[in-house]
Amino acid sequence: MITSMKLFLDFDPCVECKEMMTELSSEEMLFADDETRADVSAKFLRHLTYNHNEVVKAVMSEVKNQQRSPEFDLYK
Ligand SMILES: [Zn+2]
Repeated sequence: MITSMKLFLDFDPCVECKEMMTELSSEEMLFADDETRADVSAKFLRHLTYNHNEVVKAVMSEVKNQQRSPEFDLYK
């Protein structure tokens, strides 16, 4: 999650993004089960895909460059 949050600093999040990022980094989420976390991550990724395609592309190339896909929470 730290890796992905860092990447997202480079774009201008809309209100929905901010809500989901807050949700993802909330204390509640820290204690949530894997399934719940995966759901919220998937929701966020879907939103990014439809609304911020350039971010997804940037993240993809970053992941590829750094070979860090196992650490990339959105794909868990
Ligand atoms: Zn957004």
